[in-house]
Amino acid sequence: MIEPNSELIIDFELVRNNIQEIKKKLPKHCNFMGVIKSDAYGHDLKIATNAIKDVVDGFGAVRLDEALVIRENSSKPILAMQGVYSSDAYDLIKQKNIWTVVHSISQLPLAKQYQNNLIFWIKLNTGMNRLGIKLNELDQFKSFFTDSNVLMTHLACADNPSDKLNKIQFDNFENSWNEVSKNMKRSILNSNGVLNFPEHSYDWVRVGIAMYGGIDLPNLKTAMKFRSQIISIQSLDAGQRIGYGGRAKTKRASRIAIVYCGYADGFPQTAKDGTSVLVNDRLTKIIGRVSMDLISVDVSEINDCKIGDWCELWSPDLSIVQNANKNNLISYELMTKISSRVTRKYLNL
Ligand SMILES: *Cc1c(COP(=O)(O)O)cnc(C)c1O
Repeated sequence: MIEPNSELIIDFELVRNNIQEIKKKLPKHCNFMGVIKSDAYGHDLKIATNAIKDVVDGFGAVRLDEALVIRENSSKPILAMQGVYSSDAYDLIKQKNIWTVVHSISQLPLAKQYQNNLIFWIKLNTGMNRLGIKLNELDQFKSFFTDSNVLMTHLACADNPSDKLNKIQFDNFENSWNEVSKNMKRSILNSNGVLNFPEHSYDWVRVGIAMYGGIDLPNLKTAMKFRSQIISIQSLDAGQRIGYGGRAKTKRASRIAIVYCGYADGFPQTAKDGTSVLVNDRLTKIIGRVSMDLISVDVSEINDCKIGDWCELWSPDLSIVQNANKNNLISYELMTKISSRVTRKYLNL
């Protein structure tokens, strides 16, 4: 008998569908960069590269080792979005034809040595104050203002279109753009940027989370199904406490299913009572604290529920965003924290 285990089933047809849905928001000439940093947000870097390379114009990585894996599997443009830091790394990206980002004046001396042999994205700090060169330092990058290079920035509040910082960032970008004699290409938007400000799409958009369905929109589907099997069912009277700390208490006579998955699989330990899950296609709720290896779920209303049935923690039919929102987390974190012991399966490669 095969032992039960939690499973992560990733359907790349859904990822490709999500990409097509996002592209509908974009002007025709705009290039689509698929961001596949952090193991493609937990969807497997190498498999994701191959599964989406025909529907993207380029790839966004963060680390050089990620960019190298992508290059082994695709000849499309690749951007190492957080730059490189040594002449060895520059030599390697030159050899592998990988683009890079300069986001700090401290990178300027080394970048200048390679400026005739590489494509550079010059990253401006327009108000997020994380990475990016200061607006008043931009004139020191004059020799990079060519029509093959790209001027970029990153939005701090793209998911909240009413935040005033968005306009400040767009205005700062626009002013700088006017200073660089408009030769360069432009890139500002991430996923939420595309959804909320498609008029700022310009030459490249850099889309990560939306490809994987980590934004709650009717046409986007969570591409990963995270599920495990029920290994026990408790029949409890009203007033019984469940799990560590006895946090939850049954309000009525209840049937509680114990699911073979816990925070060591990557399910959030902080998940609250009432977090939605699916059992036999029926919506139900977590009750009691999540353990290292187990989750308890109220199946009182699911009469046919039995040991061996599957419980979906999130899936194309139960958006990962509902879990994130309920638990004050973000879908990005949930996707990237699924642990190595979970069995992976990949569909529609
Ligand atoms: C991660 C990242 C993106 C993609 O962001 P999403 O919100 O996942 O679409 C875009 N640009 C940069 C610089 C990033 O680091």
